[in-house]
Amino acid sequence: MIPLQDSFFRVIDYLRISVTDRCNLRCVYCMPAEGVTPFHHDDILSYEEIIRVVRIAAGLGVRKVRLTGGEPLTRKNIAFLVAGIKKISGIEDLSLTTNGVLLAQQAAELADAGLDRVNISIDSFRPERFREITRGGDLGAVLRGLDAARKAGLAPVKINMVPVRGINDDEIEDFAKMTIDSDCHVRFIEFMPAGTGSLWGPEKYISADEMKEKIQQIAPLLPVRIRKNGPSKYYRLEGARGVIGFISALTHHFCNECNRLRLTSEGKLRPCLFSETEIDLRSSLRSGVSDEEIARLLRLSIEIKPKEHNLPKEHNLNGQGAGIRETVEYPVPGPQCGAEKRPMSRIGG
Ligand code: SAM
Ligand code: SF4
Repeated sequence: MIPLQDSFFRVIDYLRISVTDRCNLRCVYCMPAEGVTPFHHDDILSYEEIIRVVRIAAGLGVRKVRLTGGEPLTRKNIAFLVAGIKKISGIEDLSLTTNGVLLAQQAAELADAGLDRVNISIDSFRPERFREITRGGDLGAVLRGLDAARKAGLAPVKINMVPVRGINDDEIEDFAKMTIDSDCHVRFIEFMPAGTGSLWGPEKYISADEMKEKIQQIAPLLPVRIRKNGPSKYYRLEGARGVIGFISALTHHFCNECNRLRLTSEGKLRPCLFSETEIDLRSSLRSGVSDEEIARLLRLSIEIKPKEHNLPKEHNLNGQGAGIRETVEYPVPGPQCGAEKRPMSRIGG
């Protein structure tokens, strides 16, 4: 099969699906304290609709699927969706990103349903600080989830941390040290001005280079090549079992390696996390169109995938205050296309 390529010759084989915009936490960098008004249940795609989209996307060359949100484990019977996607011919890798709060109860069932791996977001190993960052989260529950994921074989478990200056940056080295004796992956994500939490400010942002400098005080960081990892760059502390990844949206424009397409919980196809252009798949799914028409819309969303995002580069962060740079105009080729500003929890980070 000819792989799906966008206009800039990037092979698109990865679909990230937000299964819900709801969440049981309110992380300060992602959501406002009062949360975001949730979509009505009928407005979000049913599991059957999602499975149909994945089947058609797999026919076009999509090989990797990630379930995210909001918090995917808050959606009822997510194992049903996992099992449905796993059965689709062509899907080689099925993973899920979670805050881990409900993982202890669900890890074994998800593994049995066919989930390959989980990413767990943890921004502090200090219970009080964790509670503050998540506005009420219980670190103990997340650590039990982490343990259950390992026992269920959802390996390698990847831990996502967003370092924020003055909030948790003094724990960067502790997170990195976790990889010395454990084969886990610790991934540091640069804080992005993409959430609706009120926390963003350029002074809170820490670049991947600054994180690396801190971590190199522990031991030399050696580059590691991990096949098909999209925009993350991986390293290993000399002699360590696990690896350390950096996702640096702002400092190292990672767009040239972007291999993904996103589907929001209410059925909008988003070619880029940071562009507001999207294609409405839900109305087509619900008006009885053929698989060929859904495939056409999937191809269209790949055709309009922008060359790069429009976030400010690091050197523009200070000064006039960082926000999204002036909106770059992307083509809007047809009635199904529109543009909407959305919080991260609604796109699927
Ligand atoms: N609720 C799940 C979780 O927290 O893992 C999945 C959805 S969450 C939106 C996905 C990832 O986006 C998390 O790892 C989170 O830390 C990250 N994220 C959210 N807002 C962010 C921001 N403003 N900058 C960087 N990463 C962010
Ligand atoms: Fe919820 Fe994940 Fe956003 Fe935290 S980062 S508020 S857990 S969606």
